[in-house]
Amino acid sequence: MPTSHATPRRTYREERVSVLLPLPLTGAYDYFVPTDLSVSVGDFVSVPLGKRDVKGVVWGPGTNEVAAEKLKNINGLLDVPPMSRDLRKLVDWTSSYTLSPLGAVLRMSMSVPAALDPPKTRTGYLPAGVDVKDESDSRIRMTDARRRVLAVLAEGPPRVAAELARSAGVSPSVVRSMADAGLLKPITLEQHLDLEKPDWERPRPILSPSQAEAAKALTDAVEVANDQDTDEGFSVTLLDGVTGSGKTEVYFEAIAATISAGRQVLVLLPEIALTAQWLKRFTERFGAKPLEWHSDLTGVERRLTWRAIAAGEANVVVGARSALFLPFPNLGLTIVDEEHDGSFKQDDGVCYNARDMAVVRAQMGNFPIILSTATPSLETFTNVQSGRYERQILVDRHGGAEMPDIVAIDMRTEEMESQSWLAPGLQDAVAASLAAGEQVMLFLNRRGYAPLTLCRHCGHRLQCPNCTSWLVEHRLQRNLSCHHCGFSMEPPGECPECSEPESLAACGPGVERLAEETTDRFPQARCEIMASDTMQSPAAAAALVRRMQNREIDILIGTQIMAKGHHFPYLTLVGVIDADLGLAGGDLRAAERTFQLLHQVSGRAGRAERPGKVLLQTYRPEDPVMEALVAGTRDQFLATEAEERKRHGMPPFGRLAALIVSGSDAVEVENVARALGRKAPSEEGVFVLGPAPAPLSILRGRHRFRLLLKARRDSNVRGILRHWLKQIRFRGNVRVQIDVDPHNFL
Ligand code: ADP
Ligand code: ZN
Repeated sequence: MPTSHATPRRTYREERVSVLLPLPLTGAYDYFVPTDLSVSVGDFVSVPLGKRDVKGVVWGPGTNEVAAEKLKNINGLLDVPPMSRDLRKLVDWTSSYTLSPLGAVLRMSMSVPAALDPPKTRTGYLPAGVDVKDESDSRIRMTDARRRVLAVLAEGPPRVAAELARSAGVSPSVVRSMADAGLLKPITLEQHLDLEKPDWERPRPILSPSQAEAAKALTDAVEVANDQDTDEGFSVTLLDGVTGSGKTEVYFEAIAATISAGRQVLVLLPEIALTAQWLKRFTERFGAKPLEWHSDLTGVERRLTWRAIAAGEANVVVGARSALFLPFPNLGLTIVDEEHDGSFKQDDGVCYNARDMAVVRAQMGNFPIILSTATPSLETFTNVQSGRYERQILVDRHGGAEMPDIVAIDMRTEEMESQSWLAPGLQDAVAASLAAGEQVMLFLNRRGYAPLTLCRHCGHRLQCPNCTSWLVEHRLQRNLSCHHCGFSMEPPGECPECSEPESLAACGPGVERLAEETTDRFPQARCEIMASDTMQSPAAAAALVRRMQNREIDILIGTQIMAKGHHFPYLTLVGVIDADLGLAGGDLRAAERTFQLLHQVSGRAGRAERPGKVLLQTYRPEDPVMEALVAGTRDQFLATEAEERKRHGMPPFGRLAALIVSGSDAVEVENVARALGRKAPSEEGVFVLGPAPAPLSILRGRHRFRLLLKARRDSNVRGILRHWLKQIRFRGNVRVQIDVDPHNFL
């Protein structure tokens, strides 16, 4: 089997090696391998650093940069499987591509330091097998309490003293005295996860001909990768199909093929909200749960999951973007579901795009990767057009469900009442759906009650004290909060500027305000809000989805969190309150993102036998985004968008890198930004825009300036950036963050 283990690793004895530490340093440090030790590339080791012991990874031969007498010994080898070659290469690659220190990237792979410690063990107790009826044995002084302990153990597995005592309803001292008397035998218990092996041979749905064709192409790719004699296992396939066409069902076949070949699978999903339904689907198909990786895991879960992955025991892992850097020794397939989703891009710390780096990891590991979506990103679309990526298309919704009918409501000609956000045309449609006993979804991508609060007396607008942003009113939580830094305060009774009492007014709608209007207009309808701040936990989110599926909700009002993945058979009408919202900022991807989001929201309507309808409230019905949504001409929209980008040399036809200079002192920040501007590279085909104050010019109390480097596709952006930054001296706490291929321009 062509795993990364198969390549013999170079072994080092009594010589210097370089060890990479998960610290934001530039590179690896040299250490000496002492006589009693031998290490290989990829091994986890502990080394001295100053007065501390630090854990790191053997990265390669030593560099001779440190004088021999200063060289320190490696302390020891850690009892963890080595880091695979493809992951080490991914770390190198990511560091070089994003211009982040190697150690900072390694830290993403070693995000659970405790997982490198020996597994924690605890003492558990078993019955010692003493015949308690033997009256001649002096140890046996049976009491009721002792009998209960033995009875509990007869029923179940060995347990630690506290648990055993609790189950038996006795005090822990009873357990201890029984152990002292030799009635119980101590054994060592290791913490472990209940790993269930997915069963790839379970009955599967009968695939439609086009689904079967797509599945065959994907399983063929898996087979090629598992062929011993090939080094052509790498392939990228776009699985392109409308929502409900069975993409998940189809890529499950590729997962089955990979597990049956004994290799590991990673599925990257954009948001935790998706996983409840996804996990249910997976468990139904494979009879076992996959391992999850996201921010809600407890410390113990995190440690055990990391170890199970490193040991190769975890077959399938589903997670958010950071799962990409987990230490799989034997990864054989990656799936990026909703590949176009912006949440795969991280834009602080190491600025990387997990989708793109997942493609790199697949290439390093020589295995296939599947990108699944109904609305491909322009990058992926372009790679398909140029033949670098394969494409499998699923044209129809499963079971013959029709795509919804999408209609624009021209808000310039609608008669809107003041303080109302539902156009008469949308109100009528809602009434008709409710009368037919069907469900409605109203989409507004704004959390809270109102995005802006201003004083009617003096015009003062309530702003975050730490950021250049308005405070958003959240009436349900009775506060005003900043969506950038989390600052929040109670709504003041008077204007903080002019002290006029009761003068503050809410401007514009958020989902809470929309819910207020909807409840007023449709008092019989059961309305609920679905937004990230109104659902406190994944369990609450799952419960809300269940109520919607059980038709205990008539109108669901929400933000983009409800746009994804859910399947509601009785939902027939989707109303988009402000279809133009995402176009307002006007950054590079505004049109593309708006199209993707609205297409996805539209896909919620009419997923079963009832046809769906989507109404888009817009002030720009002639915008290409709205026209493409209404006409259903996705590929034409993407092609036009691609033309436009090509003409302006924008990604994916040109390259961008953002430099964000920030610090607590406004003058110093501006000075550094101007110095960068003066030293801007002057090569052919390279332009620098800025420096200019960032739109979000203060964030968490730090002042910010931006520069944007734009270069031809074939330019050596890394080299240019390195050379440029080398000429600048940074003073005080001024920092520059580099974001290669930025998505965020704030
Ligand atoms: P997508 O991922 O493209 O949105 P799904 O895989 O979620 O589509 O499929 C949509 C719905 O149709 C799901 O409930 C799925 O179980 C069902 N489905 C898809 N294909 C089949 C099939 N061949 N047989 C039975 N049910 C199917
Ligand atoms: Zn703030």
